Amino acid sequence: MIAETSFFFRLAFGSTNEVHRLMLKTKTNLRIIPLGGQEEVGRNMTVFEYGNDIVILDMGIQFPEEDMPGIDYIIPNISYLKGKEKNIRGVIFSHGHLDHIGAAPILLPKLGYPKIIGRDLTLALVKKRMEDYELNSAENLETIHVKSVDERINLGKFRIGFFNVEHSIMDAVGIIINTPQGTIVHPGDWKMDKNPVDQKPITYNHLSKLPGPKILMLESLGSTDTQPTHVSEKEMYANLEKLISEAAGKVIIGTFSSQIRRIAHIITYAKRIGKKVALDGYSMKSNVEIAKELGYIKIGKEALIHINDVHKYPENKLVIICTGAQGEGNAVLSRIISDEHKFIKIRKNDTIIFSSSVIPGNERTIQRLKDNLYRKCDNVIHSDVMDVHTSGHSNAADIKEIIKQIRPDFFLPVYANHYFLKEATKLAVEAGVSKEKIFVLDNGSIIEFYNGNASVLNRKVETGYVFVDGLGIGDVGEVVLRDRHVLARDGMFVIVAVVDRQTGKVKGSPDIISRGFVYLKESKQLLKETRKKVIEIVDKAAGTGGAVNWSYIKDEIRNKIGSFFYTKTQRRPMILPVVIEV
Ligand SMILES: [Zn+2]
Repeated sequence: MIAETSFFFRLAFGSTNEVHRLMLKTKTNLRIIPLGGQEEVGRNMTVFEYGNDIVILDMGIQFPEEDMPGIDYIIPNISYLKGKEKNIRGVIFSHGHLDHIGAAPILLPKLGYPKIIGRDLTLALVKKRMEDYELNSAENLETIHVKSVDERINLGKFRIGFFNVEHSIMDAVGIIINTPQGTIVHPGDWKMDKNPVDQKPITYNHLSKLPGPKILMLESLGSTDTQPTHVSEKEMYANLEKLISEAAGKVIIGTFSSQIRRIAHIITYAKRIGKKVALDGYSMKSNVEIAKELGYIKIGKEALIHINDVHKYPENKLVIICTGAQGEGNAVLSRIISDEHKFIKIRKNDTIIFSSSVIPGNERTIQRLKDNLYRKCDNVIHSDVMDVHTSGHSNAADIKEIIKQIRPDFFLPVYANHYFLKEATKLAVEAGVSKEKIFVLDNGSIIEFYNGNASVLNRKVETGYVFVDGLGIGDVGEVVLRDRHVLARDGMFVIVAVVDRQTGKVKGSPDIISRGFVYLKESKQLLKETRKKVIEIVDKAAGTGGAVNWSYIKDEIRNKIGSFFYTKTQRRPMILPVVIEV
């Protein structure tokens, strides 16, 4: 099998010697520029450039950090591609997770709708996301569906191939990008399952036969995970089935909407033991619908019921699969737990299963969710008590093993925070890659390959945050975020003073509007003193008549009232003075 594969690979990509000959003929560098995904989990997007040809891999989003209030998500910064749109030969999507396709509806139109390449489910998810973002926008897509990993696609000077990988979403695929200066091997997100459910374990030895120099770009999120082995899918399903069959009340399973195979498995099992399944959550329902249309999962009508109809069945015959296991405020599981769900109420004898991992950053929210849940229900199951989830990512041992199998000439860890990438370099050295051939890039780094050598340029391309907030893309910058921080921390205080144009004196008592600073009803004395101070400030500056510098007066109010508040309350609200002349 391996011999055949290597023969095939030689046919497809040429032998090492042939490539060396090609390399001598060309003076063009191969450039790799990650626009995101090197300093965070998410925002994955990498540019490959050879002469006038550009190929892009993935267009993901990143979810906001805690210090980015109001931001919906962050997309890769594509400033580097401005003016180069005509060179883009195609955008390849490794799989359908949002950190790989989420920015497509915004970025594809900006880049003039380049060709997109991926497996069926991945492209269907891109299309769905485009349509959700802007109706009929998917009609502009030109797609190449990868039906088999043996397919080869020419995109300018790039020759694209594929290989199978295991990941937590169906249709994930590894990418081979062959160029005259070397061959990039990029598994996308991946894991190693030594005991997969319906196929033989995947190995990567055949990739070692690819023409050199081989550049392995490896998702390295698991580089610090030193647990010997992960639970296999089979064991996890056995645990889930036991819980579902033995449940005394209804079963509620929170999981990722992209876990289509797992959702289908649960539905099939429930049907077999005579239970009914209701799905809830927009993305979960639409993902299952897409997978059904593609024929990827087969679900008989009788197994699924509508969430509105759950009351028609005995509690111990019900399985509810829903989104929101990350504690997202308005998602289904949160609504169920806070008693805000129209059709589902939690009872003590229900079984609630978190079949998901904690996305870094969500730890505290999920802890709160679990605490609330433990008050209401006696059977809460999550990965700390039983294996009810398998990770979509490899561990440290797997990273070493894949490197040993592929035997790359160059190693570039990708798709994780810097710390994970650095840890992965140690694993690569242990797996036999020499230190000087390992490069940890930042977002915007430019690495060039030429005649078997690699060098990182000492300049970077622009990769600053592009925030998406509601309908706005990139219009929320540092200033807006800073204001949001002040508002969130100490609130705001508006002072409206009406000033007589003739005399320069404040008329009546200034109006005060305040939010998030002090409770006005209980701060009468403070407000009284504030009003008095405002009148003093205005009268002193303007009361003499003549030309008045109102912006100076506003600054005076802001500064003096600001320090007055600080001495009285140790708080610094945002102060907005409004002066109206009459
Ligand atoms: Zn993924």
